[in-house]
Amino acid sequence: MEPQQHNGHAATKTRGKRYVYSFGGGKADGNAGLNWLLGGKGANLAEMAGLGLPVPPGMTITTEVCTYYYAHQRSYPLELEQQVRAGLKRIEKIIGRRFGDPENPLLLSVRSGARVSMPGMMDTVLNLGLNDETIQGVIKQSGNSRFAYDCYRRFVQMYGDVVLGLKPESKTEGDPFEKILEDKKAARGIELDTDFTADDLGELVAEFKALIQDKLHLTFPQDPQEQLWGAIGAVFGSWNNPRAVTYRKIESIPGEWGTAVTVQAMVFGNLGEDCATGVAFTRDFSTGAKELNGDFLINAQGEDVVAGTRTPQQITLAASRERAAREGRSEEERQASYPSLEERMPGCFAKLQEIAHTLERHYKDAQDIEFTIQGGHLWMLQTRAGKRTAAAAVKITVDMVHEGLIDERTAVLRVAPAQLDQFLHPLLDPNAPKERLARGLPASPGAVSGEVVFSADDAEAAAQAGRKVILVRVETSPEDIHGMHAAQGILTARGGATSHAALVSRGMGKCAVVGCEALEIDYERQQFSVRGSGVEIRAGEWITLEGSTGEVFRGQVPTRDPNPDTAEFKAFMSWADRFRRLRVRANADTPHDAKVARAFGAEGIGLCRTEHMFFEGDRIDAVREMILAEDTAGRIRALDKIVPMQKGDFVGIFRAMAGLPVTIRLLDPPLHEFLPHTEEEIADLALKLSVPAERLRAKRNALHEFNPMLGHRGCRLGITFPEIYEAQARAIMEAACELARAGVRVIPEIMVPLVGYKKELEMLRERIVRVCTEVANTGGVTVPYTVGTMIEVPRAAVVADAIAAAADFFSFGTNDLTQMTLGLSRDDAGKFLPDYLNQGIFPQDPFVSLDQSGVGLLIELAVRKGRAARSDLKIGICGEHGGDPASVQFCHQAGLDYVSCSPYRVPIARLAAAQAALRDTTPKARRVTRTSRVGTSLAPATA
Ligand code: ADP
Ligand code: MG
Ligand code: MG
Repeated sequence: MEPQQHNGHAATKTRGKRYVYSFGGGKADGNAGLNWLLGGKGANLAEMAGLGLPVPPGMTITTEVCTYYYAHQRSYPLELEQQVRAGLKRIEKIIGRRFGDPENPLLLSVRSGARVSMPGMMDTVLNLGLNDETIQGVIKQSGNSRFAYDCYRRFVQMYGDVVLGLKPESKTEGDPFEKILEDKKAARGIELDTDFTADDLGELVAEFKALIQDKLHLTFPQDPQEQLWGAIGAVFGSWNNPRAVTYRKIESIPGEWGTAVTVQAMVFGNLGEDCATGVAFTRDFSTGAKELNGDFLINAQGEDVVAGTRTPQQITLAASRERAAREGRSEEERQASYPSLEERMPGCFAKLQEIAHTLERHYKDAQDIEFTIQGGHLWMLQTRAGKRTAAAAVKITVDMVHEGLIDERTAVLRVAPAQLDQFLHPLLDPNAPKERLARGLPASPGAVSGEVVFSADDAEAAAQAGRKVILVRVETSPEDIHGMHAAQGILTARGGATSHAALVSRGMGKCAVVGCEALEIDYERQQFSVRGSGVEIRAGEWITLEGSTGEVFRGQVPTRDPNPDTAEFKAFMSWADRFRRLRVRANADTPHDAKVARAFGAEGIGLCRTEHMFFEGDRIDAVREMILAEDTAGRIRALDKIVPMQKGDFVGIFRAMAGLPVTIRLLDPPLHEFLPHTEEEIADLALKLSVPAERLRAKRNALHEFNPMLGHRGCRLGITFPEIYEAQARAIMEAACELARAGVRVIPEIMVPLVGYKKELEMLRERIVRVCTEVANTGGVTVPYTVGTMIEVPRAAVVADAIAAAADFFSFGTNDLTQMTLGLSRDDAGKFLPDYLNQGIFPQDPFVSLDQSGVGLLIELAVRKGRAARSDLKIGICGEHGGDPASVQFCHQAGLDYVSCSPYRVPIARLAAAQAALRDTTPKARRVTRTSRVGTSLAPATA
């Protein structure tokens, strides 16, 4: 029977939907485009089968069945059973064995697969269809009873764990099946699974079944159909298990998506020495280098490679030699203990290379491949776009443009902006003293320190208490996801570059060192020791990981700023810059930050806060003198001391940003922030200023506010104490004139905070302009400058047209605008924000990602009204949202001129802005042309 006809037949007979998609034998009903319906795994298996690659035949039950299952009290659509039976027939036909046949049984794998890979989901069940009868058929067919019992013991173990749910009872207890396995090894005096005899394995099967009987009061199901439907049900059931739910929450994956189930004929990597199983990456997902790489195990099955139970061998000779060099082994030792696939099975290696090439050209992206070799024949079991570090993502993307696989647009859209964050992680200070404890595999870059914890729950609890931790495990499993998320970094003793710990860390952008074999981890005593050195580290002690070298250090090693200046990064960012319309500036208060920001590509400063300058060194004394002054004259005397110091700061910042605009915000916080708080500090200051402590106390009490956020701050200070803003304007202008005379191009933008009324800005602007004119006249030089305002009080957004009449620019201060629009104090929100996030009232933290439908509406209103009143009004955003990709996208849509964010987020914002422009299909967007490098034309006030 032809597969296509067959499926058509099923459809007419049941008049139903198609719930089952078959693949194999060079054909497939589905393809990669159906990944929403078949899951990533099922869709790509179909795609590979369609390409004529060697894929064991199988069928995928769609995600719609999962949706149906939850909508109908965990039951299936009527048509399903018939469609599964038909799909099974087709597999049997291609393979030439029958499911449940005691003479020549077909064995199956049952695999879960959501649209995106989800490590929190059900594990795979292999060798399904084995029972006390069919095993005889397997023995007869293979002539290898050891193999048959190896399959059976794996099947009972996986089924018992995954489908029947026999798990460890506490967090210190090991897996109960593994315990039996380890006990048997000890009794036999062997070390590896591969050393078990057929009889040992037969005994294990019996002991596993007895364990299930004993713990669960269940007889292990012998009926293959019951086994199959049990496994299918377990996959659908696993969609809502706690790990899957946690993972979805972390990764923002909608619960409605559901999972698909793939049922596939088994191929066997455990049938002897010419069999193997492995994982390969078409490129190096840590560095991006164009080198096929990966791990494999001879005579092994399925999860052995990923699970880290045996340390796998390298696929390429080069990698195998690298490992030998790292472990200090001779070439002879290497060849004897872990030869590469390239050496052991050159034919399969060549075939793998060829398939890797085909897949890359077909998918136009680097692939993460799972394969199995049976009797020297290579089978493909999975392919997907591999999780990679930011450095690898950028390099692979740029290389693929150069290889002609993708164009620059595709390249710019391919890297997630948030991922660039990893590029910008600090590195260990090379000059700092360090004590190296051990070295493992560099699985995911970054340099992080934290207290050692040994369980995911401990990691989570510590992180919730605000502590930094490193999660140390023998190996990780999907149960550890929440702890990995909470930890700064992950360290494992076992597993390779393709282990769970490595894959998940890279996906999370988290620093990880894996396979650190020198570690002996003792969960019970909550410590690890380093073999050969006698060093012991207990839970709670600090260690530092360097994820790009795989090194582990004792204590907290200091870090330094990263340098993302690779050729690929530059090329990539230059493409991004070509597509974006939004300018990107940085929030920087010091010349150092300004330089860092410029190096990251900032096109100016969007927010320079001046209050930090008030705290530095001795100036706090002058500031306090100013606050304590009884009258204007006294305040001016104190301010006269501050002006030259502030001027010095501005000179440094202007110089660092020469030729680019610098927005300086006049004093914003309430004055009591500058006064001492404790009695001791008050006594000290009283002595220093020779004023009675009583007067200081009285001043502090007088300045006390019930709600400082809404108190005497921002432009309200300028209104009450005009001399403060005048002094700041003077410092800014004197600095600007001094540099202008020295030939440095300076573009100051003076920003008044917390304006809500046009009158406030009008009055302050007049004073600022007066001072600036004075300074310019005395200095004999003209510096064009602008005066504008923050939009952070909701009223300002509402009356933006009126305010625009007095402003050259607007800058949305979205931190305060969010606080005031939501009536939510950021400092107090911590107590209930988690509830609001967990219960879905806030889709995300409104202080991290802009509340587009609320605060966003105010922004749009202010842009519209502001530009209506003044068409050349320059508009930006300087809240922390300026570095959040979704918020940057919003700012693009809202027509802002620029975003401003912390220096380290500048590349993220540049990429997010480019992606926003590339995704923007409105005609308006296409008409926009980029303006000159220093931004839109300014309307200089007279100077
Ligand atoms: P995961 O999503 O955890 O990777 P998979 O469904 O890919 O789970 O299965 C894990 C491993 O099980 C595969 O990499 C492969 O080695 C093995 N496996 C799955 N299906 C088969 C099969 N039909 N024949 C042989 N091995 C299989
Ligand atoms: Mg797995
Ligand atoms: Mg897999």
